Amino acid sequence: SLLRKQWNIEEFDFGRPLGKGKFGSVYLARDREAHFILAIKVLFKSELEKAGVEHQLRREIEIQSRLRHPNILRLYNYFHDQSRIFLMLEYAPQGEMYKLLQKHQRFDNTRTATYMEEISDALLYCHANKVIHRDIKPENLLLGFRGELKIADFGWSVHAPSLRRRTMCGTLDYLPPEMIEGKPHDEKVDVWCIGVLCYECLVGCPPFETESLQDTYRKIVKVDFKFPLLVSEGAKDLISKLLQHDATQRLPLPLVISHPWVKAYSKRVLPPETVQDVV
Ligand code: AMP
Repeated sequence: SLLRKQWNIEEFDFGRPLGKGKFGSVYLARDREAHFILAIKVLFKSELEKAGVEHQLRREIEIQSRLRHPNILRLYNYFHDQSRIFLMLEYAPQGEMYKLLQKHQRFDNTRTATYMEEISDALLYCHANKVIHRDIKPENLLLGFRGELKIADFGWSVHAPSLRRRTMCGTLDYLPPEMIEGKPHDEKVDVWCIGVLCYECLVGCPPFETESLQDTYRKIVKVDFKFPLLVSEGAKDLISKLLQHDATQRLPLPLVISHPWVKAYSKRVLPPETVQDVV
């Protein structure tokens, strides 16, 4: 079992780098005994300390390692040596959604509706476990073997309710009005974010994008956005019900999953039970 014991770096063969983040790199790896393929994120303690994010990382590890859902990237375990921390992560073979969106420019109804069903189901599970993600955006979404969505990066997530709920965090384009206005917020921030995500997937850019920070803020708090002609009526209906200034008016996640446009286009398939479900 991957959870079973104290691991160390000698027990893995390292393969190609998968990517580089702010505090370190991610490598493809395989454990020497069972030949289990995984991704290992290597973080330098000195850099984490310099940036003062040890607390955030500890929370990310605590939260992500507890969650078990087919659309949430598993964090199996972690270990450290004198200078580094190693996170043992589920490998997402199809990489970042962000890169795929750049390649395709925009996604069709089928792909977008499938993502919407997957992310809504994953967030429903998070919220039921009192976790708010707070940083949903294409850069934090990875893709599994069959292209299924995997929420990664719980760096900004919190156990809800949290005293830190007034903290400003997340990326500008995806920030909900209540966070810009510095008001308390709850799990409905994630519902706003999937509205922004749905728009960006179909259109190719986020709905409140402008040249300047102030203009984007202004547009978000006024919920000032337009649909290009290419967006279908069903998708417009869903996005409009998610991008509501009043958080209590946002469409509940179960109704996103059962929304007629999602029902009509989603081709979600649940992955078969794999070895990672039992480790
Ligand atoms: P991060 O430090 O989390 O931003 O990761 C840096 C990059 O590595 C990401 O942008 C991904 O392209 C890649 N990456 C991270 N984790 C994984 C994973 N579990 N599977 C595949 N690629 C990953």
